[in-house]
Parts: sequence; structure tokens; C-alpha cells
Amino acid sequence: MKLKYILLSVLVILVVNLLAGFLFVKDKREKESIIYKTGLKSLNSKYKATKISYKKIIDYVYWHQINTKQIKRNILRKKINLVKKQLLPIYKALTKYNIEKLFIVSLNGETIAGFEYGDFTLKKFKSEKYAGVLYVYPLKTKKKLLGNVYFSIPFSALQDELNSIFEDTFIFIIKKDYALQKLKSRETRSLIPTEFSDNFYYENINVKKLPISLINKNIQEKVYKILNKGQPFSLVYKYNGDYYLISFMTIKTINGKFLGYLISYSKNKAFEIVQKSFFVNMILSVLISLIIGILAYILLRDMERFKHLAETDRLTGLFNKGKFNEVLKREIERARRYKRPLSLIIFDIDHFKRINDTYGHKVGDEVLKELAKLIKKNIRKTDFAARWGGEEFVILAPETDLDGAVKLAEKLRQTVEKHEFPTVKNVTISLGVAQYIDGESPEEFVIRADMALYKAKEGGRNRVEVAN
Ligand code: GH3
Ligand code: MG
Ligand code: MG
Repeated sequence: MKLKYILLSVLVILVVNLLAGFLFVKDKREKESIIYKTGLKSLNSKYKATKISYKKIIDYVYWHQINTKQIKRNILRKKINLVKKQLLPIYKALTKYNIEKLFIVSLNGETIAGFEYGDFTLKKFKSEKYAGVLYVYPLKTKKKLLGNVYFSIPFSALQDELNSIFEDTFIFIIKKDYALQKLKSRETRSLIPTEFSDNFYYENINVKKLPISLINKNIQEKVYKILNKGQPFSLVYKYNGDYYLISFMTIKTINGKFLGYLISYSKNKAFEIVQKSFFVNMILSVLISLIIGILAYILLRDMERFKHLAETDRLTGLFNKGKFNEVLKREIERARRYKRPLSLIIFDIDHFKRINDTYGHKVGDEVLKELAKLIKKNIRKTDFAARWGGEEFVILAPETDLDGAVKLAEKLRQTVEKHEFPTVKNVTISLGVAQYIDGESPEEFVIRADMALYKAKEGGRNRVEVAN
């Protein structure tokens, strides 16, 4: 019985925990997802802000120094040497800001004047293949469009700028084909492969704020497969006891082709708080479910105890009249259905009033208790003994006919007679016995046994009488 309650309580604990665990995991995932999204958004904004700061310089240069009457006139007259002379100081000034290319390209794609890596060039400028950031402005007179002006900044320059402005660490990685192209066109001298995959190269890994190589090596397994998809994503990595939010923002070429990623690494306290609160929630849920489980156990056990209390007589520990009536009904039904014998013994202590009067109520109670013990000891397990009230008791004996019941009654009578009770020494009982007759009600059955008891009293007490 107890085991059943323990199992039930354990089940309650498990269910409560599972439910709480499910909710907490869901909550944690939602919070983490917000952190990831915020990381990407913030990276995007920082990238934009840095680009805008460049745009302002370039805007100024374009409006005040390149989109001028003299330069446009010289282009119209095809005086390229003059244009070159006019552009050179402007370009020199721009290189201080890491703007590495300045090209004026005609509408058919021919270079009118170009500067790159400090030199003048007439090489074709293929904007769609360029792995860097481009700013394009139209160059026109009142009547006609002369071409476009291209300003370009390498990612490494933006990377340096981002790292100097913000606390986070930033790094660009570019896809292999663009990286090789850069090497071929001597836009870069060396290629540094990333730890993530052979498909990506660093633009420039001159970053000192964090041991990027080490971190990237450790997240390689998580990142490797996602990288090739060209989709933005975030993840968290624990380094030196701090949680780092690592966001991968996609970079595209001027015509929308996936070129690489801008990666940011930033300490994230919120993530740590989410982990901690999840941990605390789980512990709390375990504790609460344990308490609920224990309460459930106590409740179940008490229900059992209450049921026991409601069925037993407090003084003697025997069943009470209510429980007896319940059992009597059930046993009568059984006896009738299977045509089995069923007998009832009712007995009463002789001259109990005298015991009370002589020795007091307490001694009387002790006699009742002692008698109950004697009865329990001398009946079968299948027999059912109850206190009928006062100093009257009943024994219901299933599978027992009148003969057997009389024998049992006689045995009880003799046992009580021989037993030495505390203080009062001798006690006797009178007993009435009846066997159930098919068709009679429980009340009629009891009355017949009671009549037999009355006969025993009438006949001189300390004897057994049988009902007719
Ligand atoms: P008889 O031989 O005819 O049965 O005589 P009796 O004195 O036993 O019969 P009676 O019915 O006149 O008295 C029963 C007494 O039992 C009365 C009551 O005070 C006492 N009694 C009933 N219940 C209890 C109990 O729980 N404890 C004690 N100490 N006495 C009880
Ligand atoms: Mg009596
Ligand atoms: Mg009585």
C-alpha cells in the first residue's frame, strides 16, 4: 500500500518536473533567439554606421573636388593628363583614409582615369567583381552623362575602423574565389586561410583584442556547414569564463552575390543571465515538485489513515458498527450467491456494570481492551470481529455453519472464563449464535443472534445459546 503511494508521488514529481522543464527550455530558447537576433541587428547597424562615416568624406570630396567644371571640361576635351594632374592630390588625400581606389569610368566601361595602390592606371574597372565596399557617383554636365566615379575601400580598412570605434572585435572573411581573384589582381599580397573552412579567407587578421584564431578553431565544428549557405547567423561561445556572442553578417557584391562574412565577437552578459536563470528555474522546479510530491504522499497516506479511523473503534482497535454493517451486507450477498454458510456470534460481558461500579470506568475500559485482544487471537483471519457497542461484540464467520460457529463460541467462552484479567481477574461472557437463513435481511439475521444472546443471559449467563 505504501509503495503505491510512493510510486504515485514519484510520478507526480516527474510530471511536474517534465512540464516545468519543457516550459523553461522553451523560455530559454526564446530568450536566446532574441539575443541572437539582436546581435545580428547590432552588427548590421555598426557596419552601416562605419560605412556612412566613410560616405561623408567621399560625399565631400565628390561634390567639392571631383564634380567640378574644370575636371568635367577636361574629360569632355579628352585631356587625360590634365585630369590625372587634378586627381592626384585628391587621391593622395583619400588614401590617408584607406580609400584605395578612385576611378572615373565612361558609360561604355572604359577607364577615363584611375588610381590604385598609389599609381595612375587605365586598367578596366570591373565593379561587379570587386571584393570591398564601393561608392558610385554619376559625373554629368548639363547636357550629358560623362560616366561614373568609383571610390572603393577594402574590407580590411573597414575592419580597422570598426575595431577602433567599437568595443567588439570585428573581422572579415571572404569566399575563396574572391580571395584568389584579389591575389591575382595583386589587390592583396597574401591569403590567410580561416580556421573554419578552406572556402574562406581572412581579408586581414591584424586584430589583437581577442585570440580570434583560437576561438574560431573551437567554433569551427558548429560553423563549418552553415558558412557555405551564405545566410546570417549567430552563436555563443564561452571563452575565459565569459559568454561571447559571435554574429555572422553576410556581405554581398554590388550585384548581390554572396562574397563573405563580417563577423563580430562581443561579450554578452544577457546570455549568461539567461543561463543562470534557467539553472535557478530548474532547481526551483525540482524543489517545488519534490514538495508537491511529499505533500501528495502525506495526503494519500492520511487518506488511508482517516479511512482506518472511520472504520475502527478507538478503544479496542476492532472494527466499529458502521464497518461491521458494511461487511455483513457484503458477506450475506456472497453467501447467497455461492450458497455458502455464514454465521454470526453476538456476545456481551456479564455483569459489566458491576465491574465499572466496583473498580471504576478505567478498569472497565482495560477489560474491554483485554477482551478485544483475546478475541483477535482466537479467531481466523477470515473471521470478522467488531465492537457492536458498549460491552457487546460481534463475530462474523464466513464459510462456517452453525456447528462450527457454536464450537467457536464455546472456545471463546472458555478462553475468556479461564483468562486472568488485570485487577478484576475473572470475567465471563454470554454468547448468541445464528447461521444465516437464505432470504432474511441483515437486520433480521442480527436480531436472531441477539435473541440467542438474550436467551443465554436468561439461562444464567456464561453460556452459548443458538438461535432458532
Ligand atoms: P449483563 O450481564 O446483563 O449484561 O449486565 P451488565 O451490567 O453487563 O449490563 P448493562 O447493559 O446493564 O450494563 C452495561 C454497562 O457497560 C453499562 C455501561 O456503563 C458499561 N459500558 C458500556 N460501554 C462502556 C465503555 O466503553 N467503557 C466502560 N468502562 N464501561 C462501558
Ligand atoms: Mg453486559
Ligand atoms: Mg450490554
